[in-house]
Amino acid sequence: KTTLFWFRRDLRLNDNAGLYHALRENEDVLSVFIFDTVILNKLENKTDRRIGFILSALRTLKQQLEDAGSTLLVVHADPVDFFKSVRPHAVYTNHDYEPYARQRDENVTKTLSDKGSVLRTYKDQVIFEKSEVVKSDGEPYTVFTPYSRKWKASVNKSDLKGYAVTKYLHHLSKRDPLPFPTAKDIGFEETDNGIAERTIKLPVIRNYHRTRDFPAVQGTSRLSVHLRFGTVSIRRLVQIAYANNETWLNELIWREFYQMILWHFPRVEHGAFKPAYDRMRWRNDVHEFEAWCSGQTGYPIVDAGMRELNATGFMHNRVRMIVASFLTKHLLIDWRWGEAYFASKLLDYDLAANNGGWQWAAGSGCDTAPYFRVFNPALQAQKFDPELKYIRGWIPELDTPDYPKPMVAHAEARERALKQYAAALNN
Ligand code: FAD
Repeated sequence: KTTLFWFRRDLRLNDNAGLYHALRENEDVLSVFIFDTVILNKLENKTDRRIGFILSALRTLKQQLEDAGSTLLVVHADPVDFFKSVRPHAVYTNHDYEPYARQRDENVTKTLSDKGSVLRTYKDQVIFEKSEVVKSDGEPYTVFTPYSRKWKASVNKSDLKGYAVTKYLHHLSKRDPLPFPTAKDIGFEETDNGIAERTIKLPVIRNYHRTRDFPAVQGTSRLSVHLRFGTVSIRRLVQIAYANNETWLNELIWREFYQMILWHFPRVEHGAFKPAYDRMRWRNDVHEFEAWCSGQTGYPIVDAGMRELNATGFMHNRVRMIVASFLTKHLLIDWRWGEAYFASKLLDYDLAANNGGWQWAAGSGCDTAPYFRVFNPALQAQKFDPELKYIRGWIPELDTPDYPKPMVAHAEARERALKQYAAALNN
């Protein structure tokens, strides 16, 4: 009887924990990917670049599976309905910690168990998950530095060892190639996602602590989209980080920190980590929000960032922090608006990291900058883009009358933000 391996955010054959277990423990394993209609139906943009990325990763996977004598079944359905329609011996998959995914997996477990089958799940996309790194009293950490210290103290060699999937590829189901959908088949337009092949640039990683804050240079790894969809293994990256750059290792740990926070505090998906911040009276001016979205605020570093996001689906981390601070503090617009806009545009969109980043900027998150620290966008630009290379790259009309005047004055906006925050917090 056929066992299914369900690919999700782990779109690779090599070093894939769940796939390894499926193949080691079974002899007829068919791989499946489900374009989840519950998720797709929420995507308003029918030219969403992420669909292009997933399709291209799936094409590679399918080819690799076919080279091994098997194939990839690609389905377009609600996963619960799909599993109602099949009778696998078992279904293997890797953990997904987002609230929707947890609920979906519970429903799939129930559906399968009703027919005597089972969902087996494995840790794959992080080194440590859930409660594996907690305080000595068992409570989750809510501050990064002690979390990262404990994380590093807990790692041993076996945590970083890759899963030797190739050893068991002969347990893949022998099948003829199955058809493969086009973007149109699943309700989208084919787009060029513009993402370079996954290359791990060691010189960039080695220099990371020197270059990471400068958006005009390629000073960060650009691996976030690959981590998001699992086209690269976290175990391999952490090994590289240990061998090359501790600052970069810390970034990989931030990723796990926010995933751990989302696991323990799923309420952050909708509300402030620090509940007092839910009393904030946001101004939420729609026109100002539109100016921010389209990169027309009159603050060059903010506008360059938003234009980079709109044009490419990526934004440099330093600039993400600046635009998020500007939206929440200078414009007093609810961080959830910004979070949702990023979610609709970022190729590397990840609920835990995005929510963590936005709540950090708004001051409402765990281990966040205090609310009274308001980034000065002009000073940030001077410091991190002193030659205006990044800014000019995105704003060719910078020195012309076509470029708008600043929509708010920094000093006034700062005062207004401090008052509004203080009012909410001292309530
Ligand atoms: P590098 O600097 O090379 O870092 C390596 C990897 O570490 C990244 O690929 C990423 O997986 C992880 N990482 C780095 N910084 C962070 C961080 N602060 N939090 C969590 N993980 C981190 N990252 C996302 O992956 N998805 C998001 O949706 C997302 N939204 C963000 C929203 C805001 C407001 C802010 C301030 C940050 C957000 N980040 C998000 C974190 C960070 O900006 C990106 O991970 C980073 O810019 C990706 O570029 P890179 O791959 O070159 O990262």
